[in-house]
Amino acid sequence: MLQKPQDEVFKPWSLEYNDYDPKKEKSRESLLTIGNGYLGTRGAMEETKASETNYPGTYIAGLYNRLISKVANKDIENEDFVNCPNWLFINFRIENEEWLDINKTEIITINRKLDFLNGVLSKQLIVKDKLGRETEINSSRFASMANPHLTAIQYKIKPLNYSGSIEIESTLNGSIINDGVSRYRDLNHNHLQAVSQGKEDGTIWLSVKTTQSEIEIVQAAKHLVYRNGEIENINISNNISPNFVSSGFAIHLNENEELTVEKTVAISTSKPDDINEPLEFSKNLIKTVSSFNSILTESEKEWKKIWDKIDIQIEGDLKSQMLVRLHLYHLMVTASPNNVNIDAGIPARGLHGEAYRGHIFWDELYIMPLYNLFFPEVAKSILNYRYRRLDKAREYAKEYGFRGAMFPWQSGCDGREETQTIHLNPVSGKWGDDYSSLQRHISIAIAYNTWYYFQVTNDVDFMEKSGAEMFLEICRFWASKSVFDKATGRFSISKVMGPDEFHEKHKASKGGGVKDNAYTNIMATWLFIKAFEILDVLPNNSKEKITNKIDLQNDELQTWKNISENLNIPVSKEGIIEQFEGYFELKELDWDAYRKKYPNIYRLDRILKAEGKSPDDYKLAKQADTLMTFYNLDEADVSDILNNSEHKIPPDYLKKNYGYYAKRTSHGSTLSRVVHSYLANLFGYKELGGKLYFEALESDFTDIQGGTTAEGIHAGVMGGTVLMAITSFAGINFKKKILKINPRLPKTWNALKFNFTFKKNRYFIHLTHTQLKIEINSENYDPVKIEFSNKKIILPTNKKHVLEY
Ligand code: BGC
Repeated sequence: MLQKPQDEVFKPWSLEYNDYDPKKEKSRESLLTIGNGYLGTRGAMEETKASETNYPGTYIAGLYNRLISKVANKDIENEDFVNCPNWLFINFRIENEEWLDINKTEIITINRKLDFLNGVLSKQLIVKDKLGRETEINSSRFASMANPHLTAIQYKIKPLNYSGSIEIESTLNGSIINDGVSRYRDLNHNHLQAVSQGKEDGTIWLSVKTTQSEIEIVQAAKHLVYRNGEIENINISNNISPNFVSSGFAIHLNENEELTVEKTVAISTSKPDDINEPLEFSKNLIKTVSSFNSILTESEKEWKKIWDKIDIQIEGDLKSQMLVRLHLYHLMVTASPNNVNIDAGIPARGLHGEAYRGHIFWDELYIMPLYNLFFPEVAKSILNYRYRRLDKAREYAKEYGFRGAMFPWQSGCDGREETQTIHLNPVSGKWGDDYSSLQRHISIAIAYNTWYYFQVTNDVDFMEKSGAEMFLEICRFWASKSVFDKATGRFSISKVMGPDEFHEKHKASKGGGVKDNAYTNIMATWLFIKAFEILDVLPNNSKEKITNKIDLQNDELQTWKNISENLNIPVSKEGIIEQFEGYFELKELDWDAYRKKYPNIYRLDRILKAEGKSPDDYKLAKQADTLMTFYNLDEADVSDILNNSEHKIPPDYLKKNYGYYAKRTSHGSTLSRVVHSYLANLFGYKELGGKLYFEALESDFTDIQGGTTAEGIHAGVMGGTVLMAITSFAGINFKKKILKINPRLPKTWNALKFNFTFKKNRYFIHLTHTQLKIEINSENYDPVKIEFSNKKIILPTNKKHVLEY
């Protein structure tokens, strides 16, 4: 098999691979995923089936199924992101011989290209069989951005040095399992059962149902066949059996004649937010489709509208340009304008794979700000996914003896806690307890996202209908979790885990978790402060309606105020914020020794556990924890909160904290570098900030963690790196009443150009190392006050301005 090394030549609008490397194929499949927010289909080649090397997978936003498995003699229930029937499969064989197997054939050339502009994945392949027959295959596929229920493939095949009979088989296959993550292989993974399948008026269809959630998934496909561009009326035969339906035919082709098969597929489900009668719907929809090109034209128009809003142009650095667009593209595959009517959040690993079972974590915090700026309606829909599960979060809080709303660390279909209680350590091969559900800071992230959405959009209506209620119920939860300690005269919060997942328990906190995690306590304090601001800006009648609805009285608000002024946040004399009570007494790790001993120490937790040690005993962090506070909040806001602490906070405390925690962080989560880079840039540590940023930017592209990209993209880091271009490098701060712009362009970027909507005005930004060109389009033409390079200025709207800095 021929393998050319991948040339590092970057194109501004596409991701391209010019070789086939079986070891990298699954991660490339993730990166070549097509989709439209409703569904995502991995970039597996049409001719492949699930194997150690290839993994076709299709996931639909919000489509889950639960199964029980026996592990270590325990019944473990998991909710999975269902791998839907494979609609991609098309293969061929010559003269009734063997079907093409990409892992066995000789590859003469292979080029794959994912075009971000129109969402089309194409493949150009020339293969040679044992008899020396060379065949060229050109395929293109996309998921329509215009009609999210439509996908299409154009599959062209040409015998290059022979004439003969070519047989084609194209299938819809529901006889598949969830097999995308090897760690989950011991668990049950049969999610689909056959309902019906058949053919009708030249189309085929397959209907399956998930075993527990009982969601019907229907695919209907039509095939059109062309010879040398002319329609070919050929007899298509079908194979129909439970969970499977195929269309096939054989045709004689002369050397250099080209056969084209167009496969268009209509996909729908019976999910409550989807289609009532999916079988009728998919069958009818596919009949209305005229051709691959007709759906493509419509889809391209929608992609164009999307790019007009989201594009970030970077001059001077082609690699960054390509990667930022790659990330924007995959975010749109995960959640696009189609999601306005979909009841789903943003899964941590996109619609791109099965890691974390399609669940929704706090990672949205890194992603949502972009949707606020580009597609507020989508951001609102994602927040409403949480709002619709507010009752479940209330139940969850109650179950644990708290009030208000406690959202689950991992959320799926109905909003219950989906986090496993045991976890497989791939280093030791052993199952151990999983405490991660103690990451109650997920509720902080949801409240923060709610506030941020409101801050950027001024959408009072949303706050009245759902945002404020959700926000206040989260505050209520934190208040009920805060316990007054007579000895210290302060409130404390116990039994939580911070974003640094390496610390799962400490003796100061009975029953697992840690006590007074600084990130949690500072953010909870901030929530209480914001609660009053939100109540202040709501119109009186809706304020009354909401407080009546949740029975929020003044004395309770008074308690919140009291807690916000007295929540324990330990800070050392030197101004180092203690990550949690007892952290300073933990042992130091010999970082150099571990770096020498292991090629990669990102996952120090697994390494230490496999060595029989506990990460709980050491000063180390998987990712930004205390420092995360300063990613969310401006330093001045945190300083105000810290003013209550026992020691005086030195003026350079943030830098000191950065220095302290940066050297104790292993960056075991890709999210970590985003935060560390953001802070380094803030301090003017340009080189370090740049280094961490570029590592984060290419972390999926290079599969930095060695295998995790294969199981799905990292949506959080994708969102975070795109956002950083705007917030850190263009230096735009959206968190205050007026926009603050303090540019800090990296050396290698000559210019940055993008636009966004902030408080209903549209901003067009073009930034170089010396100049900001800015135009603010406003419907009411009112001038806008901004702060540029620390100076307040008033800009007339609907006019271009050039500001030097
Ligand atoms: C990270 C979490 C994150 C989760 C899902 C973990 O590895 O530590 O912060 O929420 O992945 O992306």
